[in-house]
Amino acid sequence: MTYESLDDVLDRAWNGHPLTDGNIRDLLALRDEDDLNKLFQTARSIKERRFGNKVFLYGFVYFSTYCRNNCSFCFYRSSNKESVRYRKTLEDIVALASALEDAGVHMVDLTMGEDPFYHGRKKNESLIEVVSSVNDAVGIPIMASPGVLSEDMFLPMKEAGADWFACYQETHNKELFMRLRPHQDYGLRFNQKIWARRAGMLTEEGIMIGVGETIEDRADSLRMMGIEGVQQVRAMTFVPQLNTPMEELRSPSFTEELVTLAVMRLVHQDKLIPASLDIEGVKGLKPRLDAGANVITSIIPPQKGLAGVAQHELDIDTGERSPGNVEDMLAGLSVTVASRSEYQGLVDSWKHRLPQEVLV
Ligand code: SF4
Repeated sequence: MTYESLDDVLDRAWNGHPLTDGNIRDLLALRDEDDLNKLFQTARSIKERRFGNKVFLYGFVYFSTYCRNNCSFCFYRSSNKESVRYRKTLEDIVALASALEDAGVHMVDLTMGEDPFYHGRKKNESLIEVVSSVNDAVGIPIMASPGVLSEDMFLPMKEAGADWFACYQETHNKELFMRLRPHQDYGLRFNQKIWARRAGMLTEEGIMIGVGETIEDRADSLRMMGIEGVQQVRAMTFVPQLNTPMEELRSPSFTEELVTLAVMRLVHQDKLIPASLDIEGVKGLKPRLDAGANVITSIIPPQKGLAGVAQHELDIDTGERSPGNVEDMLAGLSVTVASRSEYQGLVDSWKHRLPQEVLV
């Protein structure tokens, strides 16, 4: 560390005092094992002070893998002729969401590529119909992750029943963004979170680790997540995909992601931080929870012909990412699954506060 010792900086975070940009960069650069143990311990303690030993479970329905975009890192990019393509029917989507609710997840995430079937239609009526049909069928909160929408779509989306809106920037370095998401608009994507908040939805931001970003870029993203006012923040390790321009790039060590998660917990103490099953599968759960994560995402019912985002097959059809299996796994860790009412209470309290917050 530069001016302050690591212990001083961790104490400051524990006591709820803001960290400087320099502190955040220094923490993100830690690699010494003893230092990392202190960082993870502090992140875990902060998480437990705020959320106890409870975790939340998110189910995931990737209902269309068609996409009009050509992101450099993504298996589902439009030019990948090898990509698995499907578009679930409305009935299937509702049935999958209902099955996840029955299995005990706290929230269902409706995700798709930017499928022209939905994005090409006037005012995206079909997309609104998906959200409202799922909302009619399930009693748990819903996240919409449909890609980039026009500003006038957010109120209808909220009124259809979306509690959350997710749209990951992946990086807040504009030049790197253009390489990752060619021909896409950085500002338009950034504004998705702002427009969703204004419409009354909770929001999630996410970054990718190992795509050419620097420690300074990661620190900047952590700062921007505060400005965006999102309630959930995530970091996911890049996984190379076949038939993409980045297929030769190797994944970084998972330590890079774990350190980022831990520093996120220090900086964003009240936010939810997911541990995604889409990167290392169920075996990656414990280190991510130990680094300060408190949500388990990408839970998928087996044998339903669904894909993951970062890894389209990982642990899905074997059932390892099914709700029952994840709960069994948690029994071996020192965490318990929160009740549905605890999660609903958290969502309601945040939604209640949104109108009073100053929006950027
Ligand atoms: S990351 Fe999303 S928007 Fe980009 S190609 Fe993949 S599915 Fe499409």
